[in-house]
Amino acid sequence: MSTGLPIADDTTAPYEDPLDLMDEIDQLKKEQDATILAHFYVDGEIQDIADFTGDSLKLARDATRVQTSTIVFAGVHFMGESAKIMNPEKRVLIPDLLAGCSLADSCPPDKLAAFQNQLRAEGRDFETVAYINTSAAVKSLCDWIVTSGNARELIETHVPRDKEILFVPDQHLGRYLMEVTGRDMILWPGSCMVHEIFSLQDLIRAKKNNPGSLVISHPECPHNILEASDFIGGTEKLRQFCISHTEPTTFLVATEVAMIHPLKLAAPQHEYIPVPGIMADSGETCACNRCPHMARNTLQKVRDCLRDGQPEITWQPYFDKARDVLERSLLESPRKPVNGD
Ligand code: SF4
Repeated sequence: MSTGLPIADDTTAPYEDPLDLMDEIDQLKKEQDATILAHFYVDGEIQDIADFTGDSLKLARDATRVQTSTIVFAGVHFMGESAKIMNPEKRVLIPDLLAGCSLADSCPPDKLAAFQNQLRAEGRDFETVAYINTSAAVKSLCDWIVTSGNARELIETHVPRDKEILFVPDQHLGRYLMEVTGRDMILWPGSCMVHEIFSLQDLIRAKKNNPGSLVISHPECPHNILEASDFIGGTEKLRQFCISHTEPTTFLVATEVAMIHPLKLAAPQHEYIPVPGIMADSGETCACNRCPHMARNTLQKVRDCLRDGQPEITWQPYFDKARDVLERSLLESPRKPVNGD
């Protein structure tokens, strides 16, 4: 589903005590036979009540191990779709149907199909590798699905060297993968509205103000931020990197700001400082590296979706094809590509 939808959150919901909400959610989980999965980018209080937390790759795998009949996926729409695709027999609920993703929206399926046809008409021999931040309709058009955690390994292991690679939708991650794999890629010009705005100038200033600090960045960040980083990785790899440092360290974190919650839980000996961003309209520095889509997830909405049994992700005709690609790409033993020539 395209999520070209309004992203402003409703601020009119009456205040409810988080502890009461957590108790209610706990009770509803039992009544509804439900498991809660929460992405590292949703509010810490939702991560705290979740049964599984993690990055896209870990959660996609966790979703296949869920024993209950209902999954609540606190994240964004494409993540709920992936959970449903991997668990067709289960009911998959998401707290807010409008929690989309600017990156996924930058690659509509009809435009991708038209571009693939154009490349084929030109006689180009390619496989399409999609970042998991894509709609299920786009996934169904691709040969491989990768996450920032497994992209390099999957490309090196499974995409034949005599094929070109069309990488969608994140141009920054694609450029980073070109560097680390040494493969040429045709890049789709998409990007994430959160990672796009980090300010190099403020990063350099923060580094100067915090001698000995280390910059850790998500590969969705632009090239100039990655160049100034000490470590680049998907959210799980960033977490592992901080855990591996036993000496108290200051980390300047260039990814969605909610990521600081799981970092603090995993490695509390460190200090974590979010890298500031630049507001696109005014050019002014902001501390706004909060994904407005992820922010649509609240404890109230988790409670409401469990109580009301909606919004629910329902099976779509293209999910079968998307499932083939997802399983081959994310589960342990990938098979041959199906869409490639
Ligand atoms: S942080 Fe960026 S890529 Fe992640 S859900 Fe938000 S808009 Fe999409």
